[in-house]
Amino acid sequence: MSWIWNLIQQRQIRNLEDRSADTLLGNKENRRSKADLEERIDQLSLISEAMWELLRDSSNISETMLLNKVEEIDIRDGKLDGKKDKSKLCNSCGRKINPRRKQCVFCGETEIIESAWEKV
Ligand SMILES: [Zn+2]
Repeated sequence: MSWIWNLIQQRQIRNLEDRSADTLLGNKENRRSKADLEERIDQLSLISEAMWELLRDSSNISETMLLNKVEEIDIRDGKLDGKKDKSKLCNSCGRKINPRRKQCVFCGETEIIESAWEKV
């Protein structure tokens, strides 16, 4: 459960970082916005940590298992870089597809595998 929350949080943090980058160009209001985003990231980190501790304390899931799962998810895109590949996989040929596409450019398949995380 916590790893699910962590993935949601990672996505939210990435979105916040993207938005935060835009503030670097700006004025006072943008600097204030960046501070707000940092505060939200801190809040999300606290919530994520609390969720993890609740899960850990009420299950047999260890810190090592959590870290291994994070690494397992991270490496799925072939790169251990602390980021999650947003590509989708084609149901028919299994190739990676741009997440914005609704159809496989390799085989024409229209039913692209989506996970709950891609919908968040
Ligand atoms: Zn395909």
